Amino acid sequence: MTHPIGLITGASRGLGRNMALHLAKRGVHIIGTYRSGASEAETLRQEIEAVGGKAAMLALDVTDTTSFPAFAATVSETLKTEFGRDRFDYLVNNAGNGLFSNFIDATEEQFASLVATHLQGPVFLTQKLLPLIADGGRVLNVSSSFVRFTLPGYSLYAAMKAAVEVLSRYLAVELGERQIRVNAISPGAIETDFGGGAVRDDEGVNAFVAKGIALGRVGLPDDIGCAVAAILSDDMAWANGTTFDISGGQLL
Ligand code: NAD
Repeated sequence: MTHPIGLITGASRGLGRNMALHLAKRGVHIIGTYRSGASEAETLRQEIEAVGGKAAMLALDVTDTTSFPAFAATVSETLKTEFGRDRFDYLVNNAGNGLFSNFIDATEEQFASLVATHLQGPVFLTQKLLPLIADGGRVLNVSSSFVRFTLPGYSLYAAMKAAVEVLSRYLAVELGERQIRVNAISPGAIETDFGGGAVRDDEGVNAFVAKGIALGRVGLPDDIGCAVAAILSDDMAWANGTTFDISGGQLL
């Protein structure tokens, strides 16, 4: 059996980690990236192997575009030595962090950091990795439901995610000739470290957010990880150039 290989950025914790585990359970081999969490990444690698999967973990800071050519060379080498392949199948641009700042107070440094992490990183990482993505593969970008509804303090973050959704549609067109599907997911509020972990750790915030969700609770990492595994599967191969809202029906 040939196992598809998925490369997930920011896989050491949160949604990326959960996506890796769900994909591994469905037979997808994983190349995960971590920024500083080498030991968390190693724990994830062991958990994947414990469910019969295979994984390699590589260091990557998605804001450091100068490192991307060397990173691509490392991915190429890892594919050959660890997986016996020349190409991988799924790229998930997941790495990212939230930024809360009222528009009036936002600084150019904060803006530059958001651009670097959420837009420039995915753009040029995808570009550099494209030769290593198999024809018929997938690119999945991670947006946010802040694009669909507004919450004061998230103007700049949401603007980055809106750009990622548009980018996904354009890439779907340009990569169609290689049968590479490009989509985005738009998670609602999920219990992770995102935003300082407020949705997970602050009961008041959790209850407030849950009230705005049709299914009556905030999302858990498993709600996103299993959705991503489904979206990347062949069952969803006709979905292209679209954004999937995965929010339990938040602020509909
Ligand atoms: P998290 O803070 O738990 O994890 C973020 C991951 O991204 C970590 O592994 C971190 O190391 C990595 N990362 C951050 N900056 C990086 C950089 N410069 N280079 C490499 N890796 C970097 O948050 P999460 O909830 O897992 O967020 C994952 C993605 O989901 C992000 O793009 C986020 O914007 C998006 N998102 C999250 C939510 C939510 O409510 N949790 C909702 C919508 C969208």
